[in-house]
Amino acid sequence: MKRCDGLSGAPRCEILDVAFDPITMDEAVRLGMAQLDGEGCRYAVTPNAEIVWLCRSTEGFADVLNGACLVLPDGIGVLYASRMLKRPLPERVSGVDFASGMMAAMAGGDKKLFLLGAKPGVAEKAAARLAEQYPGLNICGTHDGYFKEDGPVVEAVNASGADLVFVCLGAPKQELWMAEHCSQLQAKLLVGLGGSLDVFSGEAKRAPEFWQKLGLEWLYRLLREPKRFGRVCRLPLFLLAALRARRKGD
Ligand code: UDP
Repeated sequence: MKRCDGLSGAPRCEILDVAFDPITMDEAVRLGMAQLDGEGCRYAVTPNAEIVWLCRSTEGFADVLNGACLVLPDGIGVLYASRMLKRPLPERVSGVDFASGMMAAMAGGDKKLFLLGAKPGVAEKAAARLAEQYPGLNICGTHDGYFKEDGPVVEAVNASGADLVFVCLGAPKQELWMAEHCSQLQAKLLVGLGGSLDVFSGEAKRAPEFWQKLGLEWLYRLLREPKRFGRVCRLPLFLLAALRARRKGD
């Protein structure tokens, strides 16, 4: 398994093909904020069970995930697997919550945020809502996620002077994009966040806290978007693979 040193310095916990940082949400935000003053551009990923499962069918994807400076467990499935494998992760660190923590920490400061991804108009709508929600948050630019050429997008992000970029293109596209373009970007941190801009813009609704606390956010999303059925089926496959890995002592 190829991997880079995580920002946390703690040994990572391997769950099937992906090595996660065993850190809490507060630690993740503290490390993310420190990276905004760090050297070079790095990227953070927030895999759930479905994304870990994708490593089996997407060549090189595990290396891309393990090359991130922060690998945060987005889904409850990853938490269950970590307990099954006796490498318990402290808590779920969902992409949306990590992004919210970063924005709260940045509000009123001098760091700039760029929103990249989702259908045309969604990132702008998210920017307007987030500016209200986090007074003093500096959103320096937006771009939709349906571009044909990467060059103009890289240029737009660099011209904006962004320190942090939320990259919301869905998996595995966003992780591959971040790994490929990190070295051309002047921002300090890129974070892959799936459908988060749809949530921040109000286009999509996140599961109420009650469902989140029960670890059933995936079921809530499935009931609202039945077309996710095929994707959700990867969760039991992932848990079965974790069970097999436990038996083999991997
Ligand atoms: N998306 C994009 N460009 C693409 C494909 C997808 O910007 O080429 C966006 C899509 O509009 C959505 C997000 O990526 O906003 C993926 O959302 P999804 O709910 O699939 O991600 P999840 O949160 O489940 O990882």
